[in-house]
Amino acid sequence: MEIKAIRGFNDILPDEIGKWQFVEKTAREVFEGFGYSEIRIPILERTELFSRGIGEATDIVEKEMYTFSDRSGNSLTLRPEATASMARAYLEHQLYNIESIAKLYCIGPMFRYERPQKGRYRQFYQIDAEVFGVGNPMVDAELIIMLIHFLNSVGLEKLELQLNTLGDRACRPQYREGLRKYLEGKAFQLCEDCKRRLETNPLRVLDCKVETCKQAIADAPKVTDFICSECQKHFDSLKEYLETAGLAYILNPRMVRGLDYYTRTAFEVVSYQLGSQNAVAGGGRYDNLFQEIGGKEIPGIGFAIGMERLISLLPEGKQFVKHPDLFIAALGEAPSKEAYRIVNQLHLEGIRAELDYEGKSLKSQMRRADKLKARYTLILGEEELKRGRAVLRNMENKSQEEIPLQDLIDSLRKKSFQIEQSGL
Ligand SMILES: [Zn+2]
Ligand SMILES: [Zn+2]
Repeated sequence: MEIKAIRGFNDILPDEIGKWQFVEKTAREVFEGFGYSEIRIPILERTELFSRGIGEATDIVEKEMYTFSDRSGNSLTLRPEATASMARAYLEHQLYNIESIAKLYCIGPMFRYERPQKGRYRQFYQIDAEVFGVGNPMVDAELIIMLIHFLNSVGLEKLELQLNTLGDRACRPQYREGLRKYLEGKAFQLCEDCKRRLETNPLRVLDCKVETCKQAIADAPKVTDFICSECQKHFDSLKEYLETAGLAYILNPRMVRGLDYYTRTAFEVVSYQLGSQNAVAGGGRYDNLFQEIGGKEIPGIGFAIGMERLISLLPEGKQFVKHPDLFIAALGEAPSKEAYRIVNQLHLEGIRAELDYEGKSLKSQMRRADKLKARYTLILGEEELKRGRAVLRNMENKSQEEIPLQDLIDSLRKKSFQIEQSGL
């Protein structure tokens, strides 16, 4: 029996990997430029980190976690998101003793047991950035500016920044209660999940996808009608900082995000590319998360970008697949040995080069060079080799020239340089 991958678990093949590498490289460059450092955290954590951090009454914790017991009977969970683990690492290693403000990012796979659909997997990849240790809305603005700058840097356009505030411990209970009272009157319209959420977590009803639930919340009270003056002040300064930076936003009072730990600032970036509406990134402030996982009162804010979605939105036309710079077609025993020597030398120089391993005919070697989309082919025969020369063929315009073998690397370097300059 042929063994296949698990449902919802996806291979990323060599012809797609160029896009992934480009996105990751751009993220590293942009984030490091904003003063962030990479952190790598384990894929497995104790289950209570997520149940306490994310919240028991969230879809993630209730239905979507990969939780199992290890051989010692500990309950472990494959990380469904990165923020709780990053906060745990920050506390565990007392990073606050080194520097009270930590700006961290992390790139890697997350795991959620969701219904697999096109482009959505149970192992999916996220880029996360978090700032721990500062509650000033200036940081909220800076983080959002970095996110938009990154998305623009990979070529995304037609982006919309949506903002909301979710209140804090002082004012959210009033909002919850106001919302719950309003929804009780609409309970007959709510789906089974939402009827339950009425008691456990009425805010969750706001992002239910069921049509009757959407109708039920049409006139629901807004969080902005309930927030305290401190939260209002935070929200107003954030908006002012974004305006100062020239960043446009729209207010979306229905946005609640899928996790319980958010306080005050919540945001999403939506792309209108390809004619449809796609959320590419989202995040928010979480000033209570650290306490939930057993730490001190430390403010935090962050975002996560879904890489599969982002990659599906990358502009077409950019060349991501790498092809050989040179293919060496050698004919005969001595030229074949010379080709082997040259290829090894080119590899050490960082030039992507290929040769024939199987003693094939010139015609079939040229066919392979074409298939590999090599930029140049070096044709090496007995005659040329005796004179220390070879024919260099430009595979795109089919022009050929004879060059001395000892000038090969220089010629290739010059040509690659010309290629980069002309933007091809
Ligand atoms: Zn519902
Ligand atoms: Zn408040």
